[in-house]
Amino acid sequence: TGSTRPQRLLRAVQKKATQGDPQSVIATIDHFCRHSEWAMNVGDEKGSILDSVVTELNPSSALELGTYCGYSTVRIARLLPPGSKLITLEFNPAYAAVARQVIAWAGLNDKVQLVEGPSGDLIPQMKELFGVQTFDFVFLDHWKDRYLPDTKLLEECGLLRKGTVLLADNVICPGTPEYLEYIRNSSRYESRYFKSHLEYTKVEDGLEKSVFLG
Ligand code: SAM
Ligand code: MG
Repeated sequence: TGSTRPQRLLRAVQKKATQGDPQSVIATIDHFCRHSEWAMNVGDEKGSILDSVVTELNPSSALELGTYCGYSTVRIARLLPPGSKLITLEFNPAYAAVARQVIAWAGLNDKVQLVEGPSGDLIPQMKELFGVQTFDFVFLDHWKDRYLPDTKLLEECGLLRKGTVLLADNVICPGTPEYLEYIRNSSRYESRYFKSHLEYTKVEDGLEKSVFLG
């Protein structure tokens, strides 16, 4: 057909999900990925852990590293209180184009700012470009070798405050050993593991939640 997996995922959303209903967008994507084509969304099982962390924190400013098709973006944004903003970074223009349409279909344009480019270039520009002081919540789900350098960059740029929560996906599968070693042994973080499974599979994976202590 010449279409890509993200384009097919978008078509499923536009065919089956209700416009303006984030929950139906999420359910449609999960169904597509369980029954048609696996895709690297955080998924429903780890997604419910993500939901509890976001709900408990009630962040007014949030950052997501790695948008892909916008699945986790929709999950996070739908839980944000009025006036809150989620900035999500994606360096693949084709994925970003799909994500924009998924986010729009869910009716979440006013809560989400999707920025195209590499995290390493964009993080140092957050203050100038978007007027961000600090983030309350950061979801790390981009390429796994970037978790540690981007965490250090967030620290250096003053984008974390006492109480900022970092939530990292895929810390077991594919795994982020250098990040885990750093975040679990640094006295600047209080960190804990939430055991779960790799999206749409029975393979062990989990999320690491780390509170920045300042
Ligand atoms: N968070 C998404 C979800 O759960 O629905 C899945 C994100 S997917 C696992 C990782 C994405 O990060 C890919 O789309 C990839 O193109 C993007 N990415 C990887 N490294 C990046 C970087 N350094 N800056 C921006 N985007 C990056
Ligand atoms: Mg992931």
